[in-house]
Amino acid sequence: MNDADTLFERIIAREIPADIVYETDTTLAFRDIKPQAKTHVLVVPKQRYRNVAELAAADPRLLADVITSAHKVAELEGLTENGYRVVFNTDVHAGQTVFHVHAHVLGGEQLGFFGR
Ligand code: 5GP
Repeated sequence: MNDADTLFERIIAREIPADIVYETDTTLAFRDIKPQAKTHVLVVPKQRYRNVAELAAADPRLLADVITSAHKVAELEGLTENGYRVVFNTDVHAGQTVFHVHAHVLGGEQLGFFGR
């Protein structure tokens, strides 16, 4: 991609502080600054793709790494007994604001339905 760096490249480069909860060679997980659930962690691939569809098309193994890391975060955060949600917002109507693909891992309490 040749857009300007996003916030998440700067977090990955440790130029901006973040509360990191898990890291692998290919992914980084850190707490969302404005949590939408009791537990709200973002999982990003260190390599940038704009959204999950671009990631899936270009590097399905890296998408699998993101999902595996999301599940590991859920284990570390104690979410696996009662379950959790993984969300990839894609573009404007979904409210995507950072154009470096990221999985939202949400849980720790009963989540409401979502949509409009
Ligand atoms: P999106 O809206 O693109 O799906 O998700 C972007 C997420 O990044 C939002 O949930 C927002 O709260 C989070 N966010 C925005 N700025 C920062 C920041 O500086 N640090 C962290 N940890 N999260 C951020």
